[in-house]
Amino acid sequence: MDYDFVVIGAGPVGGLLARRLCEGGSTVLIVEEHAQIGRPFQCAGLVNPKAMELVGLTDTVLTPIWGARIHSPSGEEVSIGSPDLIRTWSVCRKMFDEAVIDSALDAGADLWLSSTPFAAEQDEAGVNVTITTPTGDVSVRCLMLCGADGAHSWVRRNFRMGRPKEMMVGFQIEVTGYVGEEGRLDMYTGSEISPGFFAWAIPSGDTTRIGTWSKADMMEGRSPEQLLDTLRKSPLWSRRFTGCREVGRFCGPVPSGLVSRPVKGRVVLFGDAAGLCKPTTGGGIGPGFIHVENTAPILLNRVQNLLSQSDMESMMKKVLEPVRKDQLRAKALRDAFLTQMNDEELDEVFSVWSKPEVTELINEVGEIENPIPLGLRMLRDVPEFRSLARRAVKAVLWG
Ligand SMILES: Cc1cc2nc3c(=O)[nH]c(=O)nc-3n(C[C@H](O)[C@H](O)[C@H](O)COP(=O)(O)OP(=O)(O)OC[C@H]3O[C@@H](n4cnc5c(N)ncnc54)[C@H](O)[C@@H]3O)c2cc1C
Repeated sequence: MDYDFVVIGAGPVGGLLARRLCEGGSTVLIVEEHAQIGRPFQCAGLVNPKAMELVGLTDTVLTPIWGARIHSPSGEEVSIGSPDLIRTWSVCRKMFDEAVIDSALDAGADLWLSSTPFAAEQDEAGVNVTITTPTGDVSVRCLMLCGADGAHSWVRRNFRMGRPKEMMVGFQIEVTGYVGEEGRLDMYTGSEISPGFFAWAIPSGDTTRIGTWSKADMMEGRSPEQLLDTLRKSPLWSRRFTGCREVGRFCGPVPSGLVSRPVKGRVVLFGDAAGLCKPTTGGGIGPGFIHVENTAPILLNRVQNLLSQSDMESMMKKVLEPVRKDQLRAKALRDAFLTQMNDEELDEVFSVWSKPEVTELINEVGEIENPIPLGLRMLRDVPEFRSLARRAVKAVLWG
């Protein structure tokens, strides 16, 4: 074997995976199609505290985020959070990705930039991967192949491992001059600006990242850029945007809903390639990191022959089934509280959210990365939400 593992994709998830595999004593090659790490990126740059703890990269933080102002379609505002509890970190994604890859290289991984696989086949004992590199095509043999190659994963397509259940599209601009609040992000809702989902303005040091996400079939022929324009021109909020000067723009897919076969023989998918983004927030770094932490030990045992192929597959299944269920529940809650609501219904929800006792409940139980406990408490404890329970109950409780 040339390597124990070949990891396709030098994003944050591929980087952490390579690091953990090297730390476990394996040899690892990372293959990245771009000439540099962290460019281009499509991300609002939010990294939750658990994920940050795993990599210890607080020096990449631009702004600690402790709260949010959430806006209903008609302009009602609900403010949550308090400065004594940091809810999430707004980071420089380029520095963050570079630091994660650096730590993999420090642990012993090799990295080939400007390189892509164009053929791969597995047999009983390993995987042969043919890679186009700047100096010509190279064949590499490894024990296992890991696809951490993002939303449009070549590994996933080559080995026919299924598709993420939902593919949202996100569009974002980075601006100076937005009138926001230090440490608080803004979320905007409404069918004209983010049908079924929400738009955001996230403080990121000297700039603000303003974006929107939705599903193609809900956008009725409008582009995400048009939706964002509508937000910026809305009479409700335009004064916050009048002094904005654009310094960058990003567009990309958000794949959510674990693919049907994340493990196929000696090939395993990670991060966006596996469809791990949260259906509620679109965040992919947190769930991608947790998946790596939970599965790297299993892969290490497999390549050291401490586990048979079938034992490995059943252990991977044990890790992944709860992830699949959590995603289904979170999606059901999102659908009930947001995606399936029209603007009038959303306004009604906001009028309940703005009651002091409900805002208190959100502050107490609300977690950006895990909205299930809050959603269930609301369905149970807030009388006005009981009728919503019918919509959510089947998938939330039994999904
Ligand atoms: C607008 C927008 C905003 C977002 N905001 C957030 C956020 O605030 N927080 C959050 O956690 N998530 C956010 N996400 C999602 C987040 O960007 C991804 O979940 C995260 O980057 C996934 O990491 P990854 O390592 O799995 O994949 P990626 O970051 O996509 O990395 C994959 C890597 O593989 C490389 N690659 C792809 N194909 C090949 C190939 N064939 N050969 C070699 N290399 C290849 C790519 O160049 C890339 O470097 C957002 C997404 C969008 C679109």
